[in-house]
Amino acid sequence: MTPKLYLVIPCYNEEAVLPVTAPTFLNKIEELVAAGEISDQSRVFFVNDGSSDNTWEIIKNLVSMNKHYAGISLSRNMGHQNALLGGLMEAKELCDVTVSIDCDGQDDINAVDEMLKHYKKGCDIVYGVRASRKTDTKFKRGSAHLFYKLLEKLGVQTVYNHADYRLMSARALEALAEFKEVNLYLRGMVTLVGFKTATVYYNRTVRLAGKSHYPLSKMLKLALNGITSLSVKPIHLITAFGIFVMALSVVGIIWSVISYFLSSTVAGWASLVAIICFFGGAQILCIGVIGEYIGKIYMETKARPRYIVADRAEADE
Ligand code: UDP
Ligand code: MG
Repeated sequence: MTPKLYLVIPCYNEEAVLPVTAPTFLNKIEELVAAGEISDQSRVFFVNDGSSDNTWEIIKNLVSMNKHYAGISLSRNMGHQNALLGGLMEAKELCDVTVSIDCDGQDDINAVDEMLKHYKKGCDIVYGVRASRKTDTKFKRGSAHLFYKLLEKLGVQTVYNHADYRLMSARALEALAEFKEVNLYLRGMVTLVGFKTATVYYNRTVRLAGKSHYPLSKMLKLALNGITSLSVKPIHLITAFGIFVMALSVVGIIWSVISYFLSSTVAGWASLVAIICFFGGAQILCIGVIGEYIGKIYMETKARPRYIVADRAEADE
């Protein structure tokens, strides 16, 4: 039996690019259907992430024109990761295999062919990995490299240069659904799912239209989420640092007592101030990092829904 494929595509205020890229997604589906690779029930599945422009109207219009389009609309803007998870969770009930991809045409859709080949050979997860980062700014390339290295050091397993372009089988998505966390860093969670995986290389181009929704602040937030959601090493490091500081202060106390008896005091104001400043700063930093985790725990204990579907669009058959 040919598998039913859903291309899951989160869209947030993408009215500029959607009319350009939607046909390329449709072409891919129709080409694969014609080749007998996937079932005719396969869909280009849009997730409208609470757009404030005409994105949802465009999606509904596409759905009315071709049965291979379908979509859901979230009740408000929930962010890329949540929108993607929402789409995947909805899709897993309807299909055998999903491929998640951004709607801006940056990721080469033709890599899907090779992903499907791996799926048919028994892989449940296939990672799309960028062959190079030529189209990125120097800053983005450098910071991404540092971030991946840092994650590795912190014991978080990630696939280097893999964003959210990946194939996942319904079985792998069932497993992912068991991860109940609210702070999402999908590419880090997926590696914890396991099963047989493969990697496919592709070229990433520049956005075809519209502008990026990942300014520096959002990128930093995602990076911080990646670290704090998947690793408790920073807390261990703080503990280790605390032990080191304690040992140091014991030495300091002994030193001051000896100095007192040798009566060589009064001088040393500068070093005193320096020490106080240093430890004041270090303590606030450490409390801050611990606070980050407590904040996460607070949000997780609320167990709020990670996405809410407000509307659906599909061709009636
Ligand atoms: N996106 C979304 N919700 C958001 C922000 C972005 O669904 O709150 C979608 C967006 O429409 C796109 C994908 O996530 O399909 C990646 O966003 P973008 O291309 O702006 O990020 P970049 O490629 O610049 O990192
Ligand atoms: Mg993009």
